[in-house]
Amino acid sequence: MTPILPGATIGILGNGQLGRMTTQAAIRMGYNVACYGPDIAPTPCGQAGAREVQGGYDDLAALAAFAQSVDVMTFEFENVSTAATEVASEHIPVHPDGAVLHTTQDRIREKAALVDAGIPVAGYTVVHQASDLAGAAYPGILKTAQSGYDGKGQRLVHNAAEAADTFTAFGGVPCVLEALVPFLWEGSVVGARNAAGDVALYPLVQNIHTNHILDTTLVPAPLASTELQASAAALAERILDSLDVIGVMCIEMFITDDGIIVNELAPRPHNSGHWTIEGAVTSQFEQHVRAVCGLPLGSTELRAPAAAMANLLGDCWPDPDFVGALADPRVNLHLYGKQTARIGRKMGHLTAVGATVRDASDAVTAARSRLKSTH
Ligand code: AMP
Repeated sequence: MTPILPGATIGILGNGQLGRMTTQAAIRMGYNVACYGPDIAPTPCGQAGAREVQGGYDDLAALAAFAQSVDVMTFEFENVSTAATEVASEHIPVHPDGAVLHTTQDRIREKAALVDAGIPVAGYTVVHQASDLAGAAYPGILKTAQSGYDGKGQRLVHNAAEAADTFTAFGGVPCVLEALVPFLWEGSVVGARNAAGDVALYPLVQNIHTNHILDTTLVPAPLASTELQASAAALAERILDSLDVIGVMCIEMFITDDGIIVNELAPRPHNSGHWTIEGAVTSQFEQHVRAVCGLPLGSTELRAPAAAMANLLGDCWPDPDFVGALADPRVNLHLYGKQTARIGRKMGHLTAVGATVRDASDAVTAARSRLKSTH
């Protein structure tokens, strides 16, 4: 592909924190950014310097007009219709392309693509109607095929009757019933691939969730052997290649006694890659810009032996103690500029790099406790 050079305008669908940090990286590199989404300005992305266009993801005429005002289009919100990506790609390159989005926005299609690529996934049953639940193995996790995130649209079910009730409660939409994976810990690999087929991967990291929301990321995953790091990288590279991804993708994994099981894919920068801003030579956001603009990928090497990231949720508001949090000079603060704090809403994060994972993780968790201490 002909590189899209600094000075050009990158269009981002979506205008939240992932768009904001992509905008920050892109502007630093000399690009202009425009973001498109339904939210009222000033959005997290717009505040960072992106031109804001307000519009619905299903307003094809507005999307076509937006596409004509930019040089390349990418996403921070991936649940857009095929019609929307098609309309945009009539005018400009769209990365990752609509096919990648189509696959990853539906658990049934995503799992089929992973199985086709020879990637280990949890055993699962596709559920279109309640009778599909009868012969399945229990316990399992019933997940809606689409629109689930941060634990929404999924529930642990112990038998077919409970699964049927849950399926009804989910509105009878297509689901997958997944076998419960006895994982030791959860991790992810964030990686990027460009149009030349070059792949650059960050190391396997450990992700600790609270109430289904990412709480802390530890870098590199402290329990990962060299062999596990290598097999996680091999799986990630195979996924990026087989889906022909252009851009950054996050591959979430369960680590079990028997190896790695891939849980799900996100075709964009990911919360478990936020540590790369301070912790790696090239951040995931700069990497995404490089990949979608057809530039060489940057080094994913760590700037320090270890790093950690702790999310700041709306639970820390209304009076976060930023002065207290930043009393440790190793801690970096990121806030997303969201106008209203709600319980569970991602408002920002803290990062620290250090000599050991323990050092870095103690630094961010202690800083977060101080930030919350007024509650
Ligand atoms: P997901 O939305 O698929 O990422 O799932 C959210 C969280 O639920 C995961 O991070 C796991 O902690 C848990 N979970 C999801 N699927 C499974 C599974 N098949 N077995 C065990 N835990 C799961």
